[in-house]
Amino acid sequence: MNEFDLIAKYFTRPTPDVDLGVGDDAALISVSAGHQLAISVDMLVAGRHFFADADPERLGHKCLAVNLSDMAAMGAKPTWFTLSLALPEMNEPWLAAFSRGMFALADQFGVPLIGGDTTRGPLSISIQIAGEVPKGAALLRSGALVGDDIWVSGPLGAAAAAVMHRTGRVELPAAIALRCDLRLDLPTPRVALGQALRGLANSAMDISDGLLGDLAHICEQSQVMAIIDFNKVPQAIELNSLNSILVAEASLAGGDDYELCFTASPANRAEIETLGSALSTPLFRVGSIATFDANQPMVQVIDTQGQRMNLAFSGFDHFK
Ligand code: ADP
Ligand code: MG
Repeated sequence: MNEFDLIAKYFTRPTPDVDLGVGDDAALISVSAGHQLAISVDMLVAGRHFFADADPERLGHKCLAVNLSDMAAMGAKPTWFTLSLALPEMNEPWLAAFSRGMFALADQFGVPLIGGDTTRGPLSISIQIAGEVPKGAALLRSGALVGDDIWVSGPLGAAAAAVMHRTGRVELPAAIALRCDLRLDLPTPRVALGQALRGLANSAMDISDGLLGDLAHICEQSQVMAIIDFNKVPQAIELNSLNSILVAEASLAGGDDYELCFTASPANRAEIETLGSALSTPLFRVGSIATFDANQPMVQVIDTQGQRMNLAFSGFDHFK
């Protein structure tokens, strides 16, 4: 099988809603009037972002899920994506499973694959996604205001616990480890929530590198300080068997949860809670935004006694 047969067999499907899909030198799309395109790309490299022997069907899901999550974080409606794939060898079972996982999620959100690139090389997968958002309505990292509540869209830490387990740092009971694996491998992008937060939230982002590290980006770009109440941070029940230090690390600094973190005026509390119920996505208020102070850490975590916690970890940095 050559490159073109591969593309035709695994990555070409009817795309009635775009002007021109896979097969030409470029795809053609039309943007709805009064909207902006939100564009984002994420590269996942074997050995860095996923284990080289990762289940290909789950990998197909995850590669697209992290991109859909970026659209959710912007409040954008995802509209299409492209896929660049480097593969060490022609491996049809792998391709079949990968494309099955990817298209299952694509179908769930009605997002067509409109092009890409395929080459031989060390396994790496890069998806570029675009979404539409009404002009000026996108949720930015720079919009947080002093007094805002800080919210997260679900329990945190299970994906991090899966990594701790797989790398031998902790030994989880087998059934719990399987559940953590599901959170790590098959994240649910909060696409509907992101769009519903337009006009309600002042800033938003998705938690890919840990709550504290990601919140620091909101703080930097909004020139504010974030104060997190540790007791309000929803911890995944899968963390129950871990010691308190690891629980704190997994829920505050663990990556890969892909929940949304957003800030909103306290005046919107009731509406946000209603929204969470309507979408069956529990929303948790975990802290508040305060005035920037150059002499204090931008992101602080407060314990039950109201004391600032001293934490020896921060967000995940891909160059550390
Ligand atoms: P070009 O030589 O212009 O880069 P290619 O031969 O790389 O074109 O690709 C042929 C067509 O197949 C293009 O429309 C491209 O977008 C599409 N394509 C290539 N790889 C993929 C892929 N992995 N998934 C989806 N479409 C792909
Ligand atoms: Mg090409």
